[in-house]
Amino acid sequence: MHVAIIGNGITGVSAAIRIRQLKPDWKITMISGESDFHFSRPSLMYIYMGHMRYREAKPYENSFWERNDIGLLRDWVLEIDSGAKRLLMHSSDLIYYDKLLIATGSKSNKLGWPGQDLKGVQGLYDLMDLRELHENSEGVKSAVIVGGGLIGIELGEMLHSRGIHVTFLVREDSYWDNVLPAEESALINGLIEQEGMELRLGTELKEIFGDRSGRVRGVETSTGELIDCGIVGLTAGVSPNIDLVRDHEIPTGRGVLVDSGFRTGVEDIYSAGDCAEIVTLGDGRNLIQQVWYTGKMQGKAAGESISGLDTTYEPGVWYNSAKFVNLEYQIYGTVNNAQGTLEIKDEQNLYWEHPNKKHALRLVHDGSKILGINTMGLRYRHRVCEFWIKEKRSVGYVLDNLKEANFDPEFFRRYESEIVGNLKEQQT
Ligand SMILES: Cc1cc2nc3c(=O)[nH]c(=O)nc-3n(C[C@H](O)[C@H](O)[C@H](O)COP(=O)(O)OP(=O)(O)OC[C@H]3O[C@@H](n4cnc5c(N)ncnc54)[C@H](O)[C@@H]3O)c2cc1C
Repeated sequence: MHVAIIGNGITGVSAAIRIRQLKPDWKITMISGESDFHFSRPSLMYIYMGHMRYREAKPYENSFWERNDIGLLRDWVLEIDSGAKRLLMHSSDLIYYDKLLIATGSKSNKLGWPGQDLKGVQGLYDLMDLRELHENSEGVKSAVIVGGGLIGIELGEMLHSRGIHVTFLVREDSYWDNVLPAEESALINGLIEQEGMELRLGTELKEIFGDRSGRVRGVETSTGELIDCGIVGLTAGVSPNIDLVRDHEIPTGRGVLVDSGFRTGVEDIYSAGDCAEIVTLGDGRNLIQQVWYTGKMQGKAAGESISGLDTTYEPGVWYNSAKFVNLEYQIYGTVNNAQGTLEIKDEQNLYWEHPNKKHALRLVHDGSKILGINTMGLRYRHRVCEFWIKEKRSVGYVLDNLKEANFDPEFFRRYESEIVGNLKEQQT
């Protein structure tokens, strides 16, 4: 039995490792056009800023793959021939498979802006983008970043660390307020300005201008402002990378459509991770998860399904973590954004913020049980927060036991009574 896996990201490797555990004698080939070995994509920014070398971003030693008899192939897949069960490769080779996993990740959105293909205009997703950024940032004094999300702020920090003046164009009225509640979003607005970067809210990109050599020289915004710049970062979100299956018999929506066992509509073809759209039966909403830890969980579950186990993927309690410059952010469970797009019956929010605007905590509950937790500038323990939400602990219980979740005893010794006192007062 030969399993071919397209993609050596966290999803592909988690699947490969799980299949090897379950099927010691199956042949496994993991294919990637991007890199010989799996690396941590969230580390891209640290490599650029010199905090880490590329080889330190590889979670497994090079010898791990040979020891586990997982074949690695560096090539691009150009076409899936599901009738003949073979892949046509960029090198012109043909790879035959018995089972196939598509784990091709995401790609940066390019929304058809005039000038988006000029030199110096780029996204930040893969090692090719990182190489391009090294070249593009050479000698550049200012940059414009389009889009206010997690990758945008990373790109801003990266360029800022090289002394490049950064201006963000953000369509929303506050940074990432399509995800964050108003207060947390306001903290990010303040932070960007404190760091010496500029923020244009309620502003979109209208056009990108180039010079005679085809290199970007500036942009015009929707408010008519002209901004000179040598780099334009396009970070208006990512979409599932389904290029390979777009005109294929494999059913697609926004991503590759799969059931909760990661099966596509075509026999022996599976898909998981950022590129997959899980058709959840019942509530009519499909699930696309585009973060590291869900890639890991989905890859493992897809590996089980491919190996013949009767696996049903359970998304569990939502979790994400990121860094806005030096401000750590974590979310557990369900926390509504400023527009309140997620409907929570009887939603109540308790929110504490330190006057220095560097620490904040939000507890969301429905009058009885805790539903979600947001932290800014505080690190909470994943295991504890997940347990509280899963076990439907009351908000009173959470407040009485808050210190169990905190990673930083020093911070808590100083602030715990203030935080708990303040949040309890809001409850009454
Ligand atoms: C800059 C950045 C920072 C991030 N930071 C965080 C973070 O802090 N926390 C977090 O949770 N998530 C973060 N993410 C998101 C996280 O990295 C992704 O959710 C995760 O990498 C998805 O894993 P994946 O295996 O599904 O896809 P990917 O990691 O995208 O891997 C897909 C692989 O498939 C390969 N591939 C695609 N098409 C083909 C083809 N035709 N032929 C051969 N190979 C192909 C690609 O080259 C790639 O190597 C970040 C993402 C980026 C871009």
